[in-house]
Amino acid sequence: MKDALRHSRFEPAFQPLVDMSNGLVVGFEVLARWVDPALPAIGPVHFIPAAERYGLIGPLTRQILRKGCTEALQFPGEPILAFNLSPIQFRDPDLFDFVIAVIEPTGFPLRRVHIEMTESALTGDDGVALATVQRFKSVGIGVALDDFGTGFASLTRLHAFPFETLKIDASFVQTMETDPGSRKIVASVIGLGQSLGMTIVAEGVETEQQATILRRLGCDIAQGWLFGKPAAALEIVRSLPSPTGGIQRKSTRVSPLQRFHQLEALYKDAPIALGFADLDLSYVSVNDRLAQILGRPAADIVGHPITEKLPARHKLAMTRLLQRIIDRRSIKSHEYSDGAMARSYLISCQCVCDDVGDAIGLSITAIDITQRKAAQVALKADEEHFRRSVELSPNVAWAAKPSGEVDYMSPALGIGEASAMADRIADWYARMHEQDRARVRQEWLAWLPSQRPFSTQFRIKWNDGEWRWVLSRAKPFFNSRGQLERWYGVISDISDQKILEATVAQMASLPQENAQAAQILKLFR
Ligand code: C2E
Ligand code: CA
Ligand code: CA
Repeated sequence: MKDALRHSRFEPAFQPLVDMSNGLVVGFEVLARWVDPALPAIGPVHFIPAAERYGLIGPLTRQILRKGCTEALQFPGEPILAFNLSPIQFRDPDLFDFVIAVIEPTGFPLRRVHIEMTESALTGDDGVALATVQRFKSVGIGVALDDFGTGFASLTRLHAFPFETLKIDASFVQTMETDPGSRKIVASVIGLGQSLGMTIVAEGVETEQQATILRRLGCDIAQGWLFGKPAAALEIVRSLPSPTGGIQRKSTRVSPLQRFHQLEALYKDAPIALGFADLDLSYVSVNDRLAQILGRPAADIVGHPITEKLPARHKLAMTRLLQRIIDRRSIKSHEYSDGAMARSYLISCQCVCDDVGDAIGLSITAIDITQRKAAQVALKADEEHFRRSVELSPNVAWAAKPSGEVDYMSPALGIGEASAMADRIADWYARMHEQDRARVRQEWLAWLPSQRPFSTQFRIKWNDGEWRWVLSRAKPFFNSRGQLERWYGVISDISDQKILEATVAQMASLPQENAQAAQILKLFR
C-alpha cells in the first residue's frame, strides 16, 4: 500500500447521484479505487480498513480528494462531489485544515464539496468531530450521514450535528421489496430526515421497483447501479449528456408532518364516513361521521371488531365477506338500510395495500343515501302509476319513423302484452283484420308525404276472440329545422261507438226516426 501511495495508484471513481423528481444527475459520490494491473482487484472494504490500521488513510484520502476535485473540474454543469472520510479521521482536530489544504489548490469550489461520515464517527466522545463538521459547514461544505441505520447513533447526536443529508444504507433499500420491516424503516428514515429538513439519499438502488417505492415515499436523491456504476472521470465526461445543477432544496416539498395534518383534517371533517380496519378486521380509526352512523362514540369503536355489534347470524357472513375483500385485494359496495333510524347508506369496503401489494388493512367509507333512496322510490312509484294507467286505458300509444315504420307501441291489456318491442308490434299487425291490413298500410304510406295529421279505422282481434273497431290517429312532429322527425299516434277502442253508429244507421232507415238519427250521426262524424 505504501508503494501504491508512492506511485499514486489510488484513483477516484465517480458514481452519479440522481434527483428522483426529474432524473437529472446532481453530483457524484467519489469512491477510492486501487488501480494496479499487476495486482488482483482489491476493493475499498479491504484496503480502507488496512489504510486506517497502518496510518495510511491520510495520504490515501489526499490522493482521492486531489484527483477527484481536479478531474471533476471538466464535468459539465455544477455537480457536487461527495467524499468519504473514515471515522478515525474525525478524531483528528486538524482534519478540517487538512481537507481544505488539499482541495483549495485544485480550484474546485468548496460549496460543491460534500463530506460523508458514518454513524461510528458519532459514537463515544465526538466533540472533535462536531467541531470539524461545524467548520466544514462554515465554509459551505455540506456534511452527510452515511450508511444511516446500520450503526447506533442516538437521535440526540443526529440532532446535534448539522447534517445536510441522510444516506439510507443499501441493505434496507435492497430488501425493501421483500421485507416489510425494511420498507417501514426506509419510510421512517425518509420521514425523519424530511422533518429535520435534510435531503435524503437512498443508496444501492438497483431496480426500477425500488426507485418507484422510494419516489413514492418522498426520497429526494438516489444512487445505485440502476442510475450508474462508479466510473472513471473520463467515462463520466464521455457519457454525461448535460447534467447537474447541484442538489436543489425543494421548497414545494410537503413534509410528512404537513401531510399527516392535512390528511387528519380531511379525515376528521370529511363529508362522508371514513374508517380504517387492520387485517384482524378490527377498527383502527373512525371519523366522527362513521361513529355517528355506528351509533357509538369513536372510543368505543376503535380496537373493536367490525362485526362486534352485528347480530350473530350476520357475523360469520360478514367476516367471510371482509376476508374475501382482503384476499382478492378488491372493493365491494353495498346498500344498507338502518330500519330503526329510517336511513340508508352506501357502504364501500376496499383492501388497502402498500407499495409492493401487501395488504395492510381495510378502508371503509359510508355515504348517507337516504334522500337519494327516497327520490328513487318516489320516481319508481310515479313510473309504476304511469305504467298502470297506460295499461288500463283503452288508448294505445305508438310512434313511427319519418319513413312510416312503426318502432314503438305501448303495452295494453289484452293485446300487445309482449315485453319486447318488436314482438309487441308484430302482435299488433298479426291481429289486424286481413281486410283492413293492406288497406291501412296503403292509406298510411300514401299519407306520409302530406306530413299532416293522419286518421284511420280498422278491426283488431282482441284476446277474448272478439273483433273490435279501433281508431288510429297520428300527428307529425317536426324538429327545430322544420324537418319531420317522428310520428306520434294513439289507437283508441271505438267498438261501442261503432255499434251505436250501426244502430243509428238502422234507425235512419225507419222513416219516423230519420231526422233524429241523422242528427246523432252528425255528432259521430
Ligand atoms: P459507501 O460509502 O457506502 O459507498 C457505497 C458503496 O456501495 C460503494 O462500494 C459502491 O460501489 C457501492 N454501490 C453503489 N451502488 C451500488 C448498487 O447499486 N449495488 C451494490 N451492491 N453496491 C453499490 P465501494 O466502492 O466498494 O466502497 C465501499 C466502501 O468503502 C464505501 O461504502 C466507503 O465506506 C468506503 N470507501 C470508499 N472510498 C473511500 C474513501 O475514499 N475514503 C474512505 N474513508 N472510505 C471509502
Ligand atoms: Ca459513502
Ligand atoms: Ca453508504
